[in-house]
This record gives sequence, C-alpha cells and structure tokens, in this order.
Amino acid sequence: MKTLLNHINGRWVAAQQGATREILNPASNGVIAKATDSGATDAEAAITAARAAFDGGPWGQTTGPDRAARLFALADLVEKHAEEFARLDTENNGKPLREARFDAADAAGCFRYYAGLASKPQGQTYSAGDPNMVCMTVREPIGVCAQIIPWNYPLLMAVWKLAPGLAAGNACILKPSEMTPVSAVRLFELIEQAGFPPGAANLVLGPGDPVGSTLAASDRVDKVAFTGGGVTGRKIMTAATGNLKKVTLELGGKSPNIVFADADFEAALEFAMFGIFAGQGEVCSAGSRLILERSIAGKFLPRLAAACGKIVVGDGFDEDTEMGPLISRAHMEKVLGYIKSGLDEGAKLLCGGHRIEKGALGAGNFVQPTVFTDVPADARIMREEIFGPVLVVDLFDTEEEAIRKANDTVYGLAGAVFTSDGAKAQRVIRRLRAGITWINSYHPTFNEAPWGGYKQSGIGRELGTYGYEAYTEVKQININLAPGRVNWFKNL
Ligand code: NAD
Repeated sequence: MKTLLNHINGRWVAAQQGATREILNPASNGVIAKATDSGATDAEAAITAARAAFDGGPWGQTTGPDRAARLFALADLVEKHAEEFARLDTENNGKPLREARFDAADAAGCFRYYAGLASKPQGQTYSAGDPNMVCMTVREPIGVCAQIIPWNYPLLMAVWKLAPGLAAGNACILKPSEMTPVSAVRLFELIEQAGFPPGAANLVLGPGDPVGSTLAASDRVDKVAFTGGGVTGRKIMTAATGNLKKVTLELGGKSPNIVFADADFEAALEFAMFGIFAGQGEVCSAGSRLILERSIAGKFLPRLAAACGKIVVGDGFDEDTEMGPLISRAHMEKVLGYIKSGLDEGAKLLCGGHRIEKGALGAGNFVQPTVFTDVPADARIMREEIFGPVLVVDLFDTEEEAIRKANDTVYGLAGAVFTSDGAKAQRVIRRLRAGITWINSYHPTFNEAPWGGYKQSGIGRELGTYGYEAYTEVKQININLAPGRVNWFKNL
C-alpha cells in the first residue's frame, strides 16, 4: 500500500521517526492509504526549508509576474486533474462526488484568481504635505507562513491557504488534517510540476500536536493561518504569542437561516435542507438553526420532515447519493451524543435521529438527516456547533424577534434570510452579526469575495483581496526629492 510522504525542500521524505498512520474511507472505515506520521523534528525541518527559500533562496526574490506564471500553470494542472481530485476527496472525506467536483473546480479557480492578483497594482501613493516628499506604500510577503487546515474540505482548504500565500511571495508550510492528507499529497506533486522552487511550498503530515503546535509556536514562523475548531484556535493563538506572529483564524459557527412567511416557499424549503445537509453538515457555515416564522410552521415543518426522510444517504461514489458519511467513528459518536442530549433536554425529534446500521452502510459512519423542533433556548443543540446533519428549528412572530434569535450566539460566521420583501431582506441582513450572508440563497461562495467570521467565528478574512492582503506586510517608503541639509543642528 502506498505511503504518503512529506514534501520538504522539494523532496519527498518520510517522517524522521518512521511512524505511519492508516488513512480511512469513512464510507466503509477501510484503509485506503498509509501516511507518514510526523513529529516536531519534521515540522522544524520544514520551517528550516521555508526559511532558507524565503531568506536566501530564489523564492524570496521572485516578482509578482513570476509567481503568477507558476500559479496559472498550477491552476491548469488542477483543472486537468479535477475528476481525480474529486475522487480522492470523496474516498478520503466521504462527501458525495458531485460536491467534491465543485471543490475541485473551485480549487482551480482559486489558484487562477490569485495568479491574476499577484501581478496587479499593490501599493498607494500619498500626498505627503511637503512638495519635496513622496510617500508611497508597497506590499511585501510576511515571510514563512504555517497553514493548518481541517478535514471537511481537504483540497479546497489547502488551496484557500496556499494560493494567496504563494501569490504574495511567502514560503508556506501546509499541515493537512491527519485524517485527510490524500488530496494534499497529489496537489504537491502538481506544485512540483508547476515549477515552484524547493522550500517555497512544504507539506508536513501528522497530528495537530506536535506538528501543528510546533509550527504555531516556532519563533522562525512569521504567520500562522488556521481553519478548524475554536478550542484549537485558542491554543494556536496562545502558542503564537512567543514571537507575536500574525494570526488568522477561520473557526466554527451556529449560523441562522431566517425564513419569513412571505418567502418563496419551495425555495426556502430546499435551501433550509441544503444549508444544513450539504457536506453532511460538516460545514463551518452550515445553516444549522432554522429561524422560521410561526405562521407557516404548520405547513413548512411536515414538508421538511417528509423531504428529509427522502434524502439519499450513501457512499459518495454512488452518483445518486445526496449525503455521505461523517468523517470518523469518533465524530459520528460525538454527533449522536448531541442528538441524545437534545432528547434529554426536551427537544422534539421531527425526523432522523439515528445512525444507519443496516446493510452496507453499517460499516461506515452514516447518520440520518435529523431535525429538532421545540428546542429550549439554552439546550446544547441550540447553542453549540454540532458539525453534523442536525438542524434545530426556532419559531418567531416578529422581525425584531427573528433578528434577536439569529444573533443569540457566540458565533458570527454566516446567515441567510428568505423573504420576497426586498426592503425587509436588507433590514434584517444588515443587522445580522455575521461575516458571510445570503438573501434568498444559502452557501454559494466566491473566490473573489472575503470569507470569515464575526465574534468567536474567527479573526481576519480569507479569499478575495482581503485574503491576499492578510499574507502581506505594508511598507511605507518616504522619498526626499530635494536631499540637502535641514539645519536642525547648527554644528555639523
Ligand atoms: P480541529 O481544530 O480539531 O483541527 C483542525 C486542524 O488543527 C487539524 O489539522 C489538526 O491536526 C490541527 N490541530 C489540532 N490540534 C492542534 C494544536 N494543538 N496545534 C496546532 N494544530 C492543531 O478541527 P477539525 O475537527 O479538523 O475541523 C472542524 C472545525 O473546523 C469546525 O469547528 C469547523 O467549524 C471548523 N471549520 C471552519 C471553517 C471556516 O472557514 N471558518 C472551515 C472549515 C472548518
């Protein structure tokens, strides 16, 4: 069986201690690969390679157009291998193939977007208040960037980090989730082909602690960009204080999807389901709280229950599958624990609520699409991110109540409103304390637009020009057009 390796300083290398880890397919829990399982010394080796590439190697001297050419080549390669990438992510993550195909297409688009940005104007000039002075800014790379990502979008999360990081001229070290390294390894083969010099992009496979924690704590790393859970995000922020490295965090959410009685009923119904059950609910921006106008609940909820019961749950490789397995046994147990806690705390199960154990799906980590109503405001399933196919429904009578309930969370990643009243849609969306919002839609994401959360959903933004700027330092340059003495000191 193939062993997946680290890619450090342009070479494929095994972890120094020689340990390996089994990589599983969540639809069957069968072993699909072995991955080298790194330790702190491997993380240190990657930092050394990245430092050398940035501080003294050719990578630190590249121009925007140089980097653009390589990133355009990489975008073309990812596009050429899109179906292969989709299949790798379906096998390793479980998501239905049609979703993995979207991810692969988005990944190529993300490299292409940042390739374009790398050669575009970067700085500003200022009126300096002195005719003999010119004041201007340039954007420069931050240096060595550690990039730590989760398992829910194995390819796309890697690309959201690498594309802006490399476009801006940083030397990058990617640490994928220890559960989903497969597509990242294939991506690094293409990075090599696209002509990135040794050390510009490095890959270290292994667990959060010690690999991620070593990267986050190192004084030789200038920035850590993290996507994952809030507990880990806090650890990373703490670890980063040693050298006050730059930190960006993309964390979780408990995002509201507000449906008014005047909304297009069928659209609102389908998006309520899409918002939570796309990606098995293992999506940071999932619409996990349906905030529904009470006057239509009698019609909406029975339709929702019936439609959820018909969602085709299965192996992601089956083209008919609409929802795949959860990432691991442990995560499935966590989600089932939340379902039990919902019942214990008095919520009513509208549909689902169980693991699927019959037939071939019994070997995998499949949970039924689940909806709860009558959920107490302080129940754990109302307040905590479940990161699985579990929707909670909360009813409201007035616009004010809908907004209050939507914002009653420590998170602020995403949210949506469904209504046919354009002014109401604007009023409500502007009062949502969330970074990514939709009106009469849920989930579309664009490489060109910023991604990130308010409140405890994170710090900073990825994607778009914001995501690029987050990988740069801004330098002010002041130029004296009339060099000469200023006579501040009389005796020179
Ligand atoms: P996680 O926090 O457990 O792990 C994420 C990554 O951090 C993994 O690579 C892991 O190995 C690493 N890690 C773990 N401990 C570490 C440590 N002490 N130091 C450094 N790195 C460490 O998260 P997960 O379970 O993989 O992913 C689920 C979470 O990710 C959810 O909360 C979800 O909302 C969030 N998420 C957010 C976004 C977003 O864009 N906001 C996107 C996807 C996922």
